[in-house]
Amino acid sequence: MPLMAELRPIEILLSEAQIQKRVAELAAEIRRDFPDDLHVIAVLKGAFIFLSDLIRHMPGHVSMDFMAVSSYAKATKTSGEVRLLKDLDTTLEGRNVVIVEDIVDTGLTLTYLQEILRARNPRSLRTACLLSKPSRRQVDVKVEYIGFTIEDRFVVGYGLDYAEQYRNLPHIAVVG
Ligand code: 5GP
Repeated sequence: MPLMAELRPIEILLSEAQIQKRVAELAAEIRRDFPDDLHVIAVLKGAFIFLSDLIRHMPGHVSMDFMAVSSYAKATKTSGEVRLLKDLDTTLEGRNVVIVEDIVDTGLTLTYLQEILRARNPRSLRTACLLSKPSRRQVDVKVEYIGFTIEDRFVVGYGLDYAEQYRNLPHIAVVG
């Protein structure tokens, strides 16, 4: 089915090799901070590839769960509205939890997630984001592990979509 707009990946921003190297570093950092008990929560759909690469770089035990929220519809604009579409399967009580997210843009999605997850009494709650666009921030949200800081460009690939396309790219590209 043709896309409504003609936006497509035009420029590779982060290569597969750059991403893989950085993800391995992040995994090592997280594992150092939480050598034993670690429960990671991926935010669907965008974080699923980041999560799968991240956990494969972590020796030892790691459990995981998934949640889904909507902030973007099929467009490239922030609605400001965040809805919980899929909740977790298990409790967070007393666990060391790391939220795994694809990108922090305005920060609205993560602020919402951190609030509802903190209310479930984890022992600790941290956040890992592959990408961050600090120039777009509307709320001051804390992200302990950041893969790459990027400029305000709409990116796709490595789990990130434009109208549900391009999630399967092994690199991160700018659309135009
Ligand atoms: P925030 O609530 O921080 O504004 O938005 C976070 C969500 O917006 C991300 O999880 C992601 O789904 C989406 N998003 C923000 N920037 C981009 C981008 O450049 N590309 C894509 N594909 N999604 C983005």
